[in-house]
Amino acid sequence: MKKRAPVLIANRGEIAIRIARSCRSLGFPVVAVYSDADRFSEHVRAADQAYWVGGAAPKDSYLNVERILAAAKAAGAKYVHPGYGFLSERPHFVEACEQAELVFVGPTAESMRLMGDKITARRTVSELKVPGVPGSPGVVKTAQEAAEIAAKIGYPVLLKAAAGGGGKGMRRVDGPGEIAAAFEGATREAQGAFGDGSMYVEKLILEPHHVEIQVFGDGKGGAIHLGERECSIQRRHQKVWEESPSPILNRHPATREKMCEAAVRIARHVKYAGAGTFEFIVDGKGNFYFLEMNTRLQVEHPVTEWVTGVDLVAWQLLLAAGELQLPAVPERRGSAIEVRLYAEDPRTFLPAPGPLGLIRLPSGAFVRTDSAFTEPGEVSLNYDPMIAKISVWAPTREQAVERMRVALDEARVEPPKKADGSCVGSLRTNLSFLRRLARNAAVIEGHTPTDLIPRHPELTAPEATEPSLEAAVAVSLYQLLEESAPEAIEAGGGERSLWAWSARREGVRS
Ligand code: ADP
Ligand code: ADP
Ligand code: MG
Repeated sequence: MKKRAPVLIANRGEIAIRIARSCRSLGFPVVAVYSDADRFSEHVRAADQAYWVGGAAPKDSYLNVERILAAAKAAGAKYVHPGYGFLSERPHFVEACEQAELVFVGPTAESMRLMGDKITARRTVSELKVPGVPGSPGVVKTAQEAAEIAAKIGYPVLLKAAAGGGGKGMRRVDGPGEIAAAFEGATREAQGAFGDGSMYVEKLILEPHHVEIQVFGDGKGGAIHLGERECSIQRRHQKVWEESPSPILNRHPATREKMCEAAVRIARHVKYAGAGTFEFIVDGKGNFYFLEMNTRLQVEHPVTEWVTGVDLVAWQLLLAAGELQLPAVPERRGSAIEVRLYAEDPRTFLPAPGPLGLIRLPSGAFVRTDSAFTEPGEVSLNYDPMIAKISVWAPTREQAVERMRVALDEARVEPPKKADGSCVGSLRTNLSFLRRLARNAAVIEGHTPTDLIPRHPELTAPEATEPSLEAAVAVSLYQLLEESAPEAIEAGGGERSLWAWSARREGVRS
């Protein structure tokens, strides 16, 4: 295998492990970074070298540019892959990498500024005659200004954070009476989440579907698309079920052609380099509106990998190494679905992290799991509470849904249990919710507007009885721990000692 320079992965969790896999298959040595909370995490184990970069809070470690660059230097890395979240969409980080003579695996700082900022991107695409959601031309400074625009475009509207991401800083407003309070609330939330409270206004599209186009650019004005993903099934404006091809576009195939063409046209215009995603809203009639561009690898990229057979991370790495010739648009086959398994309450969808006593992820033909968790472990309060991504492929959508149902029934995620059967900690998961989704008639038929969940209260109704599957754990590892190392429990009582014990057992370096 070709000898290559190391890649530092400036991320954690499942995405760091997934990136490490492609690095290995291409012969790039892997450098991990980790925080205090991740000393014993799987992504550290997946690396050839690992560097501590600070405390558990993201700002102290995974967002600490200085420490990450120092780690890259110490490790002799040549490339930096940012994954998603954290520093992946920060143009300053791209520039800092360049100054440190590191190759950032992703687009240039310039195209990030142009396309990563929602308001600038809206302007760029409208110049290219790609339809955007009607709304304010730029930032609105006051609730009064927002009300004037809303009166012009008509209610209901959405107030959205210019710096937004992960569905934060967004409020639906149905009439002028609600706008002042919504403006204040959304501004506060955006200020807290992104350090930037700037707001803009968009018309709320009714019966909306979220459909996005995966593109890949060579940075020289060449770009291709890799088809679409529909990610309409969302809670709190965040995706939980993603698939390709899109059921709504199957009913409007001409829209698919137009969207793919528009996405490629924009990517070529900005000379986009690497993997990027154009997000659109599609209404029930097949009209489409540009929402935003994500200038990075997307959480749900496995769906595209299933239907195209392309390893998107390998493409990113080869492009960074100057070895990628952009091929023709890959053929797409069959149907793929991904679900996001979260540590959250299955009724309120609020995060419910905690120690993890047992995790069994499904496997089998055409089933893929992306996860960084093992048992015993802990879903940390400090980070995104996603436990795993489970994805499947099948020749038809009907078979893919069925395969997903089987896979979800096989999955088990439980908190540690004491000898008397009671749970330790507060871990909950959305597994029961996902199982219901995979059995929902509208989902099976592919009628999935973004408000599917509120339209189907049975998806979030309390359970009559907990399925015995969950309760049937014979011996949890926590019990094992109680038997083999009771002093660990007595000494710390909590998750920390569980961690320490697991690390000792596995001989992890610290
Ligand atoms: P996708 O569009 O790929 O589904 P999301 O919008 O769900 O991505 O965000 C991907 C990940 O990045 C999530 O883990 C989310 O918590 C995190 N994230 C999104 N936006 C930001 C941001 N501005 N700052 C930090 N993390 C973010
Ligand atoms: P984020 O940066 O948080 O991903 P997006 O602009 O991509 O924000 O919006 C997230 C989700 O919110 C979309 O997938 C969609 O479900 C919903 N949404 C956003 N804008 C609109 C709109 N104008 N009309 C209807 N739904 C919208
Ligand atoms: Mg989005």
